[in-house]
Amino acid sequence: MPDRPEERLDRRDFLIASIATVAGSAALVGNAGSANAQDTAASSTTAPGAPSKTIYTGDTIQGKKVVSALDVNDLEAGQKHFLYFQGVEMPTGQHWYVSVTVAKGAKPGKRVVLTSGVHGDEMSSIHTVQSVMNQLDPAQMSGTVMAVTDIARPAIEGMQRRWPNLGRGVDLIDMNREWPGNENGLTAPNRHAGLLFNRLLRPNADAAIDFHTGTTGFEVTAFNIGGMDVPEVKAMMELYPVGQIYDNHVYPGVLHNAFMDVGIPSFTPEIGAARVLDLEMIAQFVEGTMNVLKHHGIVAGPMGRTGKDVGVFVGNSAFPILATEGGIVEHLVKLNDKVEPGQKVAIQRNSFGEVVAEYTSAVSGEVTGQRSDAMSEPGNPLLFILFHKTPLNGDETYPE
Ligand SMILES: [Zn+2]
Repeated sequence: MPDRPEERLDRRDFLIASIATVAGSAALVGNAGSANAQDTAASSTTAPGAPSKTIYTGDTIQGKKVVSALDVNDLEAGQKHFLYFQGVEMPTGQHWYVSVTVAKGAKPGKRVVLTSGVHGDEMSSIHTVQSVMNQLDPAQMSGTVMAVTDIARPAIEGMQRRWPNLGRGVDLIDMNREWPGNENGLTAPNRHAGLLFNRLLRPNADAAIDFHTGTTGFEVTAFNIGGMDVPEVKAMMELYPVGQIYDNHVYPGVLHNAFMDVGIPSFTPEIGAARVLDLEMIAQFVEGTMNVLKHHGIVAGPMGRTGKDVGVFVGNSAFPILATEGGIVEHLVKLNDKVEPGQKVAIQRNSFGEVVAEYTSAVSGEVTGQRSDAMSEPGNPLLFILFHKTPLNGDETYPE
């Protein structure tokens, strides 16, 4: 029914949104230079295209009110709020909704945003965020914590890394290459990223943490990724009692860098293997995140264990070892093992059981990730070894 007045109205809204986004992107460029955490409260609420207030669509889903824009300042203090945010429109005309939990402290203070599910197969990241939110008592808090646990909804529905986008047939799109997105971008995940970033995440963040895990077929240990040269990021990452820090800015397009680009300190925890819940690692990241909330004055109480207590290993590069043959891979080292140059770390056998490849480390460091699928073809990463490299030759990046 393309001629119904509501349809024309929607079309007009789309065009208006388009103009606002153009203005918004100019503001993003303007803010990118000032990577100062303290500026963010002002810049995030005054940016063109950013919502100045919460917009309720009037819909309710499974008892939760739906919003298309959110300012946590509009919510009642001293309470938890459970909402759905209206994300991108699907081919059916329906929308992907994401779940939003807000613990709004009784007293004002800093606002921290916790996200998970940018990749759909990373379940420990979701559980970590849920566990933190379940520990919070808004009546005792000074400030606000907002959680969005299921960002790439269609990827999570299939428990797979990438978003099945209806392009030329189905494309699989990695949503952690799409940030900050564009509300009028060419693909659904790009538009979804734009809607979430402009109307939900950025306007409510003084600091942000985007939780991940390894990916299907490749497991990683517990570590944080972020730039240690940014004091506010360094301070937060060091508050986690986990074994490794990967001191690296990685590349544009990942959610934590979209926050960094608009002056909001942010980093990415990595919590073990994909598809499973690693309850032991989750507990470490919950403890670290509660430390971060204490650091920001949102939650009272003594600090828990930190990186210092577990002898955290800091590296700035991830040395990749790629398969040169097809066959079954046999690891000779474990996650977190220390390795030296020349040390044999894996072998590979063909269908006759003959060893067709031996893999050695070229660096001194710690194992941070390992292929967990036993079969490999040439070119697959088998290991990443975290190590410290002088910045002369540039850094290798872990492909988050
Ligand atoms: Zn991920």
